[in-house]
Amino acid sequence: MIHINNLCKSYGDKVIFANFNLSIASGEFVSIVGESGCGKSTLFNIIGCLDSFDKGDYFFNNENIKKYNNKQLLNFRKHNIGFIFQNFHLIETITAYQNIEMPLLYTNLKKSERENIIYDVLKKLNIVDLKDKLVQDLSGGEKQRIAIARAIVMKPKVIVADEPTGNLDNINTYKVYQLLRELNNTGMTIIIATHNSSLADKTDRIIKIEKLWG
Ligand code: ADP
Ligand code: MG
Repeated sequence: MIHINNLCKSYGDKVIFANFNLSIASGEFVSIVGESGCGKSTLFNIIGCLDSFDKGDYFFNNENIKKYNNKQLLNFRKHNIGFIFQNFHLIETITAYQNIEMPLLYTNLKKSERENIIYDVLKKLNIVDLKDKLVQDLSGGEKQRIAIARAIVMKPKVIVADEPTGNLDNINTYKVYQLLRELNNTGMTIIIATHNSSLADKTDRIIKIEKLWG
């Protein structure tokens, strides 16, 4: 599904990737590990087409993303990639429901259609009771479950989760892992960056990135 060939990427003198290769098959659950600054977030931004690179090729389902224009990149990201972050990236002053609805507002779906989709996701993640709460009133674990709901509401093929449990205790880390595993069991491809080695050990494959600079 994802093939990255001979990727080169530098920020000024700082070499992040030099002929880096990565293949991830559809349906895999993999973790990306490596010391802070090695390029995990950079790689996720490249996978999500949020960042460019200097050299190499990125194929998604055998399509070279190089040929996409900006509108196609936006469309690609919207339908294929769901993002989850360490700091949740939710809007604190609106409800959980409104946050989950956010990606759907950029579609032609009617309000009632959006509602059906959101309820399905809320039920699937067992968080119906949180829907009317303001995000600012939720715990970290609850926020991350809302963020996962928002990430999957567009039914992406791939979820990239950048240190998704970095701000969570062990119990909530395990809950997030279980949710991601359930999503993986429904066929979603999951890629997580993590410093938590016991979490990485639970994934099906560990990919280590070497830090090339400093
Ligand atoms: P990781 O997620 O593995 O900790 P990152 O991918 O965030 O690492 O960053 C790799 C290195 O690249 C870091 O040293 C970071 O400061 C640098 N970096 C990341 N993004 C930028 C940017 N937009 N401009 C300049 N340097 C950057
Ligand atoms: Mg990072």
